Amino acid sequence: MARRWDYDLYVIGGGSAGVRLARTSGALGAKVALAEDARLGGTCVNVGCVPKKLFVYASRIAHEIADAANYGWSIPTPSFDWRVLRTNEEKEVARLNGIYRRLLVESHVDVHDARAVIEGPNTLRVDGRVVTAERIAICTGSVPRRPDIPGAELGMISDDVFVLEELPRSIIVVGAGYIACEFASIFASLGVETRLVARGERLLPHFDREIGLTLQRELAKQDVHVTCERHVMALEKRGDRIAVRFDRGDEKCPEELLADRVLFAIGRHPNCGHVGIESVAIKCKPDGAITVDDEYRTNVPSIHALGDVIGRVQLTPVALAEGTALAHTLFGSRGKIVVDYEAIPTAVFTTPEIATVGLTEAQARRHHEILVFRTEFRPLKHTVSGRDERTLMKLIVDRQTDRVLGVHVLGEGASEMVQTVAVAMKAGATKAHFDATIGIHPTAAEELVTLR
Ligand code: NDP
Repeated sequence: MARRWDYDLYVIGGGSAGVRLARTSGALGAKVALAEDARLGGTCVNVGCVPKKLFVYASRIAHEIADAANYGWSIPTPSFDWRVLRTNEEKEVARLNGIYRRLLVESHVDVHDARAVIEGPNTLRVDGRVVTAERIAICTGSVPRRPDIPGAELGMISDDVFVLEELPRSIIVVGAGYIACEFASIFASLGVETRLVARGERLLPHFDREIGLTLQRELAKQDVHVTCERHVMALEKRGDRIAVRFDRGDEKCPEELLADRVLFAIGRHPNCGHVGIESVAIKCKPDGAITVDDEYRTNVPSIHALGDVIGRVQLTPVALAEGTALAHTLFGSRGKIVVDYEAIPTAVFTTPEIATVGLTEAQARRHHEILVFRTEFRPLKHTVSGRDERTLMKLIVDRQTDRVLGVHVLGEGASEMVQTVAVAMKAGATKAHFDATIGIHPTAAEELVTLR
């Protein structure tokens, strides 16, 4: 029988959500195409998680070199070459672009290296030709925001860091969230004079307060100058430097700082321009995120949206989970699959790094009577290295049920610890379960099961 549509599913966007949705649907037997007019892999692979983590590794080697002396190593004056790092990072990204393409092809997905624009509930225009699909999925991700201030174009956004030809001598990072903290940490470790300017009263305002404040203290030890409660008003070119004007929000005490570069890390907004959503009147929230139901269906029943473009949780593993869930819901045999958005673990790859799962102390206090177990210590490794870095761990426990409501770690290996702890949280672990677990000695993680 002739097919009514060219495809069962047409995916717009080849990032984490789109590639996962397309290849899982293809593997389940659906006829699928995916359009991407840039490199496959989206933000995560090209200008996000992966290359950023490689920069993090590079930055941490600087700390390791400094740690080495007290362990008996003598290392001739080290030097760092940004171009070597960039070249090798680009090679790795290109390798991953190839893997993404192969995964799609192996799942029988037609990859269109083009921009697809929606023209109707089941119709798209791709490279000048009309393509039809029973379902369309918008997986176009998000893009970094730039403030609406004079001279904003003089500042970089995170995408630009991955094409920087040279490491600047100085940088001002504007923001207080994941990207601002991670890049401030990377730049400072690589020897760049780094300043962070935040508009709130502390770094990481959406994380546990003590974690944000401790990170601020740890970054200060590495000469990251953090200035809070300042609003950036304008950027201006001064010779080959940039002047950043900011104030306390009242224009009474304007201040100015100069740096070689400025980086805006003030959030990301949904990327749904140029997709044709207006042609079918797809509804969006005030922040521009596409509105969907729990099957990622927009107000046009044949069109779905998932990943950063729906603005729920802008994290790669969440986009992957949404892609898997929708593919199985549409083409699998198990009925509707729902993503569990509770207790999503997350990490900030600063040095020291942060990882967290569940409620912050303040969130928990709002709805529960709680006990807080905390410890702060110098890790064994640094008792000899001499590095002045401390680890902080917090367990938030419901006093009545003994359930662990939140785990917050700042310190080396935090992300590796919290990923595993998140499984225990999903299984409903109580403080008694933590207490009954034997530690692995000597580790930092054992502190999580010996907190009293
Ligand atoms: P975040 O949402 O983490 O933080 C944005 C910060 O910028 C907030 O503190 C916000 O302040 C501040 N801000 C907003 N507007 C302005 C402004 N005009 N001037 C000054 N400050 C402003 O955004 P990021 O850009 O850091 O990251 C985007 C998303 O990408 C994250 O939410 C995260 O989901 C994802 N990501 C995840 C990573 C990981 O998993 N390790 C790494 C990098 C990104 P306020 O609180 O006052 O609004």
